[in-house]
Amino acid sequence: MNDLRILHLEDSPDDAELVHATLSLAGLAADIRLVSTREAYVDALEQFAPDLILTDYRIPRFSGLEGLEIRNRLAPDVPLIFVTGSLGDDLAVNTLRLGATDFVLKDRMARLPSAIRRALEDRDRRQAHRQLDAELAAQRELMRATLDAAQAAIVVLDAMGAIVSANPMASRLSGCAPASLAGQAFWDVFPAPQSVDATRERVRAALEWPDAVAGSSWPMSTVAGRSVVWSAGALASPGRRERLVLSGLDITAQRQAEDQAHYLGNYDPATGLPNRTRFVDALAARCRQRAADEPMVMAMLMIALQRLEEIADSDGEEAIAAICTALVGRMAAVAGDEPLLARISDSRLALATTLDRGELERFVPHVLDALAAPLAVDGRQRVIPARAGVALLPDDAADARQLLRAAEAALLGIEADATRNYAFYTPAQSDQARERLQLEAELREALAADDQLVLHYQPQVDLRSGEIVGLESLIRWHHPRLAWLSPARFIPLAEVTGLMNALGNWTLREVCRQLAQWERDGVTAPVVAVNLSASQFAASTLLTDIDRILAQCGTRADRLELELTESAGMRDPQGSVALMTQLRQRGLKISIDDFGTGYSSLSYLKRFPVNRLKVDQSFVRDIVTDADDQAISRAIIAMGHQLKLEVVAEGVETGDQCALLTAAGCDLGQGYLMSRPVAAEQCAALFGKPLPLS
Ligand code: C2E
Ligand code: CA
Ligand code: CA
Repeated sequence: MNDLRILHLEDSPDDAELVHATLSLAGLAADIRLVSTREAYVDALEQFAPDLILTDYRIPRFSGLEGLEIRNRLAPDVPLIFVTGSLGDDLAVNTLRLGATDFVLKDRMARLPSAIRRALEDRDRRQAHRQLDAELAAQRELMRATLDAAQAAIVVLDAMGAIVSANPMASRLSGCAPASLAGQAFWDVFPAPQSVDATRERVRAALEWPDAVAGSSWPMSTVAGRSVVWSAGALASPGRRERLVLSGLDITAQRQAEDQAHYLGNYDPATGLPNRTRFVDALAARCRQRAADEPMVMAMLMIALQRLEEIADSDGEEAIAAICTALVGRMAAVAGDEPLLARISDSRLALATTLDRGELERFVPHVLDALAAPLAVDGRQRVIPARAGVALLPDDAADARQLLRAAEAALLGIEADATRNYAFYTPAQSDQARERLQLEAELREALAADDQLVLHYQPQVDLRSGEIVGLESLIRWHHPRLAWLSPARFIPLAEVTGLMNALGNWTLREVCRQLAQWERDGVTAPVVAVNLSASQFAASTLLTDIDRILAQCGTRADRLELELTESAGMRDPQGSVALMTQLRQRGLKISIDDFGTGYSSLSYLKRFPVNRLKVDQSFVRDIVTDADDQAISRAIIAMGHQLKLEVVAEGVETGDQCALLTAAGCDLGQGYLMSRPVAAEQCAALFGKPLPLS
């Protein structure tokens, strides 16, 4: 241990010597700095840094009291002991009060060493205390900062369940200032939804059985619309008030996300209407509710909105959302007393009502008319034709789910029927609907499989020479279950199920592939006609599809002819003229199929840039026996020639029909008489020699 450094304020050398001797005698090794003036004292306090100060009371031009006062300011931790002649009791007490550590009378000097030792021990103890205090303060500060920063609400409770302390998060969640939280019962501030009692019971149980607190579940609280889940821990610190610490997490955001997911699973976000799932549930609930007291009568309309895909293509999904919202508004207005409405899919709405069949006969057309009235969207007038399938409970179905399917079947039943825009369910539709659904799935598979679909080719023959001048490609489906299927069965299905484009593109690609194959084989093939369905012709992608396929296959556009029906062209005559013009500019040929069966505006027909008219087979069939059919055929042939078009007769089966058509000036013929549609290899064998015309 280093020598003890003692600063001694004393003007008498004898007294100084006495102190020195006393300490030496007591074995206290000390480095003593003796000073007798204020300046030297102050200097020594700073330079010498004493462990202890001894001072006389009376010093010339200075005083022990002043020395004490200076120590208090400059070195408050250094013990100071008065070593002095007799000192009155009052003065002695005063010095102690002013901060002196002790005082020793000069005539009792023997006490000095022990006084010094005690003073130093005191100082050490005080220092240790102060360090501990500082450490505790730092720890408290850390704790406080942790609690402040915690994203959890932390609340400490006493044995009565009252809040002892709470962190800022707890105060933020509860909306109470920290000070006002203290003393309140936890269950009053953070009650479980609808029940203060549940929380109170839980707190009481936790206080009673602290051992079981950890890991046990705790009721959730709702405070100001926020959801808080708690976990608790018991505090075992004997003699303290704190018994229970609870930490609560605000899970409002998670709950909202869950609610949102639930919403999206049950509602259509664009219109806020129930979706299919929710609708079936709601319908079922209504059925149950009514079944209890009275016989249940419920009708449902499955409504298909048309042209939405087209509008979505051109105007985007927002436009569709706006349209649906507007249409739902109309439906609600017409339907009156709380009907059940839903958006079943992008283009399907549903409505359930308690009207009976007779009332529905008036109601359904009314709803459909309301839906089909012009609608302004983004400053543009839109007409959205609507069709409905209607089914009734209990007539057509036993429960909500069946009712929905029956209405869907009724709708499917009229999808390809232009004469009606609504129909009531009939049991046969169910079978048809089931079969159609299956066929649809199988058609998708066929398109992917690529070995079920084939093209057959039927020659188109020059009626004067019998020479093959063209081929019509006709699709065949080798169905795994039903063997060969007529396109009349699956083309309309492809049309209403949105598969037509894929199917049409498959056909185009296959024709191009076959032309390339023939070329490789050194076979000179004539132009091949491809049937285009109305929806393909209406699709905005037609031109790009054709361009892409021709480019991919390296096929020249003038090797292809497109067969279009009159009605396909007449849906939008002006647009058709433009589209046909673009097709012709690429070198493609165009013929009008099934001519005479549809309604054509002659003025448009004149403007359609087409190459050929195909007289529909229904006129050819009875041309020999039916004078009207003969007259119509002649008229079509004459009119075609007037318009400078070639005329093709379809369905020529007999030599008589052929002769009559030839006499009427018809240019080309196509039919079983010359050749049935045949596979590509068989067809190639026919090239180069005339086909029979009688
Ligand atoms: P369509 O374009 O009028 O085709 C002519 C139909 O008449 C073909 O029936 C053909 O096999 C049949 N036919 C040909 N000659 C005679 C005959 O002398 N007598 C009789 N009674 N019938 C004859 P198919 O192949 O069953 O095609 C039916 C319809 O399916 C076609 O009518 C066409 O509208 C459509 N179709 C066929 N292939 C395709 C295709 O690849 N794409 C599109 N979009 N439609 C197609
Ligand atoms: Ca055709
Ligand atoms: Ca035809």
